[in-house]
Amino acid sequence: MNTNNYYDVIVSGVGSMGAAACYYLAQRNIKVLGIDQFDIPHEQGSHAGQSRIIRKAYFENPDYIPLLKRAYENWKRLEDRSGAKIYYQTGLLYHGRPDHPIISGTKDAAALYDIELDPLDAGETKSRFPQFRLPDDFISFIEPDAGFVTAERSVLTYKSESLKMGAAIKTNEKVIEWKKGPDGIKLTTDKNIYFCKKLIITAGAWAGKLIPGLKADLRVTRQTLAWIRSKNDASFTLGNFPCWLVAPEDKGGIYYGFPILPANEFSGPVGLKIAHHYPHATADPDNVDRNINTRDEEEIRAILRDYFTITDIEIAGWKTCLYTNTKDEDFIIDFLPGHDKDVAIACGFSGHGFKFVSVVGEILADLAQNGKTNLPIGFLRLDRDRLK
Ligand SMILES: Cc1cc2nc3c(=O)[nH]c(=O)nc-3n(C[C@H](O)[C@H](O)[C@H](O)COP(=O)(O)OP(=O)(O)OC[C@H]3O[C@@H](n4cnc5c(N)ncnc54)[C@H](O)[C@@H]3O)c2cc1C
Repeated sequence: MNTNNYYDVIVSGVGSMGAAACYYLAQRNIKVLGIDQFDIPHEQGSHAGQSRIIRKAYFENPDYIPLLKRAYENWKRLEDRSGAKIYYQTGLLYHGRPDHPIISGTKDAAALYDIELDPLDAGETKSRFPQFRLPDDFISFIEPDAGFVTAERSVLTYKSESLKMGAAIKTNEKVIEWKKGPDGIKLTTDKNIYFCKKLIITAGAWAGKLIPGLKADLRVTRQTLAWIRSKNDASFTLGNFPCWLVAPEDKGGIYYGFPILPANEFSGPVGLKIAHHYPHATADPDNVDRNINTRDEEEIRAILRDYFTITDIEIAGWKTCLYTNTKDEDFIIDFLPGHDKDVAIACGFSGHGFKFVSVVGEILADLAQNGKTNLPIGFLRLDRDRLK
């Protein structure tokens, strides 16, 4: 056996979750190799497009809130260690009907965990945020401790900090197959063969292709993000405008967006970034239609028309990105059955995983190093009923 190719842990897929896993393993002096099929970061998977919302009042399921608290702490630690700015506390402005499950669920989750939400009456909403046009029966409130984390910058920071701490990272190398044998795990890429004691699979939209038996439980969807310019740009800049979400009545999911970020601090596109959080068309991650069609454009224009007062709109940029959805839209973080706790998997982040990257990295390092974690992930196990 070539000991140069022997690692304690291999992380297969160094995108959002995998880059953080490499970081936590390297920090613990574990001999780790991370492998990605593309550059790190890149635009083919789930982490492209500058920014991701982070919030604590988790209407989806309050079980996530202890993980979110840890995620906030870990993002701060990453900033302190690296000097990179990752978390921007813009506040998150919520709009919707009081009985909409997103609005009532956010309030319930906040009450359960004592998370601050500041209510706004209709007059205040109009005077402080004249950018929005809202139905009369909508209510609004702000979660002040929410905002966004940077996406590509986080992945890049985790990668560079991992390298500084001794991790090995290979890019543009594709994992073709892996197999557990009596002497450990053998992993074959399109360039080499490696061996490890523990394997972590964080393959994002490709998880169904690398994890046996999981394909049917994961639906990959093509999602779009748009950047808008208008006459009203000055009122949407970072510092003047928060992150926001609207709970729409006529459609599932959430409309949401971000302030205009300064071009000297962020790579483009520059503009008011808007998206619809809802699983769109099913896609094969190796064959995604990256062209923008009239339906994509009409959806964005409808959000602007229905909920904003802005005029002279130009769509300045687009990106396509992938969700990997589970049936219940909860993540999967677990050991893969039949492999003696030697293979840990983290996938199915269902379009809401990025804010958790900093805690998922820690959890995966715990699973590989100790065979368990003290962080509460029981509700994300693979054999839960709601997944089937
Ligand atoms: C448009 C959009 C908006 C979003 N907004 C938010 C938000 O506001 N807030 C939020 O919290 N989350 C948000 N998310 C979700 C979040 O970005 C994802 O949940 C998260 O990025 C998933 O991380 P991942 O590590 O699973 O996937 P990725 O970051 O894509 O990483 C997977 C990696 O595995 C690699 N890989 C796969 N197969 C192989 C192989 N065979 N060999 C080598 N490498 C391989 C890939 O190249 C890739 O780099 C959004 C996602 C999208 C698409």
